[in-house]
Amino acid sequence: PLYFDYCASAPLHPRALKKLMTATEACFANPSSAHQMGFAARRLIEEARDQLSGLLQVTPAEIIFTSGATESNNLAIQGALRAWRRKTGLVPHILLSEIEHSSVYQCCKFLGEEGAEVTLLPVDRNGIVSVQKVKESLKSNTALVSVMHVNNETGSLQPISEIGRLIKAQQPGVYFHVDGVQGFGKLPVAMDHIDLYTISGHKIGGPKGIGLLVKKEHVEIDPLLYGGEQENGWRPGTTNVPAILGFAAAVEAALEEREEKMEHISLLHDYVYSRLKGIPGIILNSPDIPLSSPHIINFSCIKKGITSAMMIGILEKNGIIASSQSACSSQAKQSRVLLAMTGDEATSSASIRLSFHETVKMEDAQYLTDAVERMMNRLQLMNKFELL
Ligand code: PLP
Repeated sequence: PLYFDYCASAPLHPRALKKLMTATEACFANPSSAHQMGFAARRLIEEARDQLSGLLQVTPAEIIFTSGATESNNLAIQGALRAWRRKTGLVPHILLSEIEHSSVYQCCKFLGEEGAEVTLLPVDRNGIVSVQKVKESLKSNTALVSVMHVNNETGSLQPISEIGRLIKAQQPGVYFHVDGVQGFGKLPVAMDHIDLYTISGHKIGGPKGIGLLVKKEHVEIDPLLYGGEQENGWRPGTTNVPAILGFAAAVEAALEEREEKMEHISLLHDYVYSRLKGIPGIILNSPDIPLSSPHIINFSCIKKGITSAMMIGILEKNGIIASSQSACSSQAKQSRVLLAMTGDEATSSASIRLSFHETVKMEDAQYLTDAVERMMNRLQLMNKFELL
């Protein structure tokens, strides 16, 4: 089958795979051990950290390795709120967009249940947060604002530079957290006004189970886990050396190859987007470029009674692997993100997300759109009885 779910997970980049394999074989000692082999493993981690610090334009001390973006998001948000509450003794206020990934959304929901004030920032029909809304929602007890770079269901691009600049101008003590998982390696990022920044290995050609949190030096967070002194105590637990080396190789390759890769992905996007636009019964949920990143296209079927699961099944029978929303929320009947954008239950429960990769060929994109067209023709012909 042809795979179009690269946002859920991408294959390992050959350079990452090589690093992962060689380090897995050669480097099994515990990097915290006080002997020659432990020191050697530790040195490899610090070399990877130095390399990443150059690539991300932050200091090595600002990089905390984690088990992935879910952990990075939780560490950033829960960690910052705990520190803020400990320092001020006040009830903290968090601002987040309605379309955040569940690792941010559920984390904030939990903090709300624990007593924090939580404000959800609405998005427009294109799935984009308004900078003005952020401005109006900041309060004297706001501890943190969390807005993602690129939405993982629709690709919609958030105005993170403007939001960062606004926060620093209006209330510089408020931390700005960005979930950069779907934007990193695809679009350029300026780290200037970002205090906490999350990325994940397996979305950019690195291994699963590895990610990082950039925590700028002035930012105070409390750890979520207690134990050893690894990662300066921010993230105790034996460090995964091969995964870190594979991750660093993937980040290097992702940034080196970014422009060329995105040029190709933009061509795929433009072809698929314009063809889908012409198919009766489809509404495109992703805004067009430049309001969206070209690697994601989300659409819904407007015929009553159709569900995402039905469409995924039909596409799969036609050799296409697609998804409806993020893999982390795939059990939900409806997309929270699309509901926030459209307010429409039918659209939100009959959506397909397609995501692209540099290895996808133009003929694959043609095959894909032909399959979607056939599926739509078939769905249009199905009667009420068949849909039940
Ligand atoms: N944030 C976004 C925007 C994502 O797309 C994902 C992956 O689905 C995550 C966070 C979670 O990443 P991880 O699998 O590394 O925990």
